[in-house]
Amino acid sequence: MDNLENTVYKYALLNAVKHNGSANPGAVMGAIMSSESELRKDAKKIGQISGKIVAKVNEMNSVDQEQEIANLGIEVGGGEKLKEKEKGLADLSGSHAKVVMRFAPNPSGPLHIGHARAAVPNGEYVDRYDGKLILRIEDTDPKRIYPQAYDMIQEDLEWLGIRVDEVYYQSDRFPIYYEYGEKLIEMGSAYMCTCDGGDFKNLKDSCEACPCRGRSSEENMELWKEFPKMEVGRAVLRVKTDIKHKNPAIRDWVAMRIVDETHPRIGTKYRIYPMMNFSVAVDDHLMGMTHVLRGKDHLANSEKQKYLYEHMNWDIPEFIHYGRLKMEDIALSTSKALAGIENGQYNGWDDPRLGTLRSIAKRGIQAKTIHDLMVEIGVKMSDSAISWKKIYGLNRNILEEKANRYFFVPNPKKIEIANLESGGSIEDNGSKEDGVSIEDKGSKKDKGSIENNGAVENSRSKDNLILPETIERPLHPDYLDRGNRKLVFDGDVYIPDIDFTDGITRLMDAVNINIKAGEVSYESKSFEEAREKKARIIQWVPANDNINAKIVMDDASTVVGLCEAECKNLKVGNIAQFERFGFARLDEITNGELVFYFAHK
Ligand SMILES: [Zn+2]
Repeated sequence: MDNLENTVYKYALLNAVKHNGSANPGAVMGAIMSSESELRKDAKKIGQISGKIVAKVNEMNSVDQEQEIANLGIEVGGGEKLKEKEKGLADLSGSHAKVVMRFAPNPSGPLHIGHARAAVPNGEYVDRYDGKLILRIEDTDPKRIYPQAYDMIQEDLEWLGIRVDEVYYQSDRFPIYYEYGEKLIEMGSAYMCTCDGGDFKNLKDSCEACPCRGRSSEENMELWKEFPKMEVGRAVLRVKTDIKHKNPAIRDWVAMRIVDETHPRIGTKYRIYPMMNFSVAVDDHLMGMTHVLRGKDHLANSEKQKYLYEHMNWDIPEFIHYGRLKMEDIALSTSKALAGIENGQYNGWDDPRLGTLRSIAKRGIQAKTIHDLMVEIGVKMSDSAISWKKIYGLNRNILEEKANRYFFVPNPKKIEIANLESGGSIEDNGSKEDGVSIEDKGSKKDKGSIENNGAVENSRSKDNLILPETIERPLHPDYLDRGNRKLVFDGDVYIPDIDFTDGITRLMDAVNINIKAGEVSYESKSFEEAREKKARIIQWVPANDNINAKIVMDDASTVVGLCEAECKNLKVGNIAQFERFGFARLDEITNGELVFYFAHK
């Protein structure tokens, strides 16, 4: 489609959903002419193409039309002019007085990033309008319940910083669902269907009512009373909709069914279970929901639920459908995660390979990162995509300020710098009073030493290296008030195994060394010289003063190494930025070993 056709198509879709799925070519033309003044010159062309486009739109069912609007991310703005939905959280539609919203997860596991997509906007809107947020745990499918999830969900919300006003478990509410089931039967708005499932489907697909639909309320009530004693599959309770509805899924949907499973909370107390659409609609009404956020894959469910609202003469909440969140490299499904935990593939719900909130929290990804990301994505109808790269980028902005910098040496290799070990200075003119001293050969006059004593890099205060030398550097170069860290250089150090290759190498903030055929010799001291010689700059720790450390990576592999002694001041939960390695969160301290989880570079 060209631009003009696209515009006509969008207006036709919007007109169709406003008029029960059927757009009127004249109205579409009128809307374009009045809203898109710059297109008036194209009136003739629009007239020629609109008939075909409107016909095409009218052939779609209403759910597909709404889906398409969602996919295109369009809405009718002020003055009916077409506009693309804006980023972030737009104001809620409808009244903003006494806003009540809910977050309603299944307790099949702890929350993952995908859940945050629903939880964060609900929490934000309730804060914005000083409303009420309900946590409703939807546990009406006994097969999809992980008992610990009831508590985990609340812990995860707390981590996200979402304040919940009331908590409900649907499994406590079966008597309420029965009460409304009976009301609908009495009103003639629901019926007991005893058809074979396949038979019902065949009839439904050809827009025909099954014989059960004609039962009287009394007959239905009798079957309802027998319902709990029936065999599984013998009957269902159906809500009457439109048996000729464009979307077959919406025709007389199932409200209740028989389930023979032991429920982790309520055991075998009930055999009649509400279907999701039934319990959700009843609860949304009874809990006073004003706005319901849900994914656009629930468009047909919203349509189903509207029939229940109409039967009961209830006000329909504002349903707000948002687009899909694609997380290509992120989350595994909860069921796959659980299976992997049970068979030992994963170490638990906080395994770094999983996209659960507790896994990313363990790695030092901040709740604010997830919060800001979800607010940015908003509740627009068009699809969004997130990736680890995006999350890491946002998180880095927070951590760069927060995390202090340290040296960590992965897979350490001990080196002894030969010409320091000779016991004298390199030019043999240094003092030997307290150990070894050296001088930076060839740089005495014109090259300043750097970095020692926290001095700025071009300081010329000190040419000679007197061992041992204490190197002081700020914990964070932008926040000098956080103080300094100290490293004592005495010639015996650990460097990363991978860096033990030939060439001039600078031990960061300390000295330049020359590694050649497995031998290490002192080269010089100045940073300038390192730069001139294009030395690589590596982190190191003193051989005699360091702490064992282990970093669990995002693929759950472990990097063993040593970190500088100053890391003893880190507390569990603190995040360190290890130079040349990345950010990591201190997770525990066992037997003097620091165990970190890697966040990202
Ligand atoms: Zn039937």
